[in-house]
Amino acid sequence: MENSIRIAVQKSGRLSEESLKLIKECGIKFYNGTGKLKSTATNFPIEFLFLRDDDIPGYVADGVADLGIVGENELVEKDKDVTVLKKLGFSKCRLSLAIPKSETYPGIQYFEGKNIATSYPKILGDYLKTQQVQAEIHEISGSVEIAPSIGLAEGICDIVSSGSTLMMNGLKEVEEIFQSEAVLISNRGLSGEKQQIVQKLLFRMDAVQKGKKNKYVLLNAPNHSLDTIVSLIPGMRSPTILPLAEAGWSSVHSVISEDQFWENIEELRAAGAQGILVVPIEKMVI
Ligand code: ATP
Ligand code: MG
Repeated sequence: MENSIRIAVQKSGRLSEESLKLIKECGIKFYNGTGKLKSTATNFPIEFLFLRDDDIPGYVADGVADLGIVGENELVEKDKDVTVLKKLGFSKCRLSLAIPKSETYPGIQYFEGKNIATSYPKILGDYLKTQQVQAEIHEISGSVEIAPSIGLAEGICDIVSSGSTLMMNGLKEVEEIFQSEAVLISNRGLSGEKQQIVQKLLFRMDAVQKGKKNKYVLLNAPNHSLDTIVSLIPGMRSPTILPLAEAGWSSVHSVISEDQFWENIEELRAAGAQGILVVPIEKMVI
């Protein structure tokens, strides 16, 4: 279908929930019953393919899907020719080298001549090359953490988020070699019509992402400190100021990034701000 696009998302796993949540937040409605491999949105020209994440870069490169949501780790490992349209900010994790807890670690030369088990032979191989370390890479598809305890390898290279899986398997993280988050990828040869639909989707995703980073702030302030308060929460153009029923006081409404808000909160209070409300923003178009 030329007047519609196809997006590949992970069927079930650590990317699925956030991928579908983002699409729903873009106002796109669809049904994804358990076990369904395909679905079509009812109010946007987009069709979904639910796949294993390993297959997503290849399907997008081949044009079976126009877009895909996948982790950068999987994307770089598969080394397919696709365009990265957007970092999505979820499924953040890192790929790290780990060795048995009891070992002392002198630095990356520890791995010289050793066996390392991993599901990421390309990323690991590239890293070792940049470090000028010669090691034997054993590719295994899962349960990488048990490799040292069963004598398969002396170290591992795997995804780490909290480090608790490593701990449970008597390992310690010694080098972080790659940082990853979910990205939106696109086939390189999309038709003009498909590109237009992709632009619409990107516009919506931007609005959702900006909304998440910012908060709507309402507060009460004595009129004599309005200048200071306005300078602390300058807003998109400028804050809205409304008089309160009580003389000498105003209500100030503004938009501010959450980080900035926490940085300025003490100064706002010192300037006399009271009754501060911070409200989430669903979408934001500047
Ligand atoms: P599939 O069955 O689709 O092949 P999988 O088992 O290979 O799934 P998941 O464990 O669901 O993969 O992880 C999918 C992606 O989520 C990973 O490739 C990585 O980008 C990211 N990820 C993995 N572990 C974590 C974590 N602990 N926290 C956040 N993100 C993670
Ligand atoms: Mg996978």
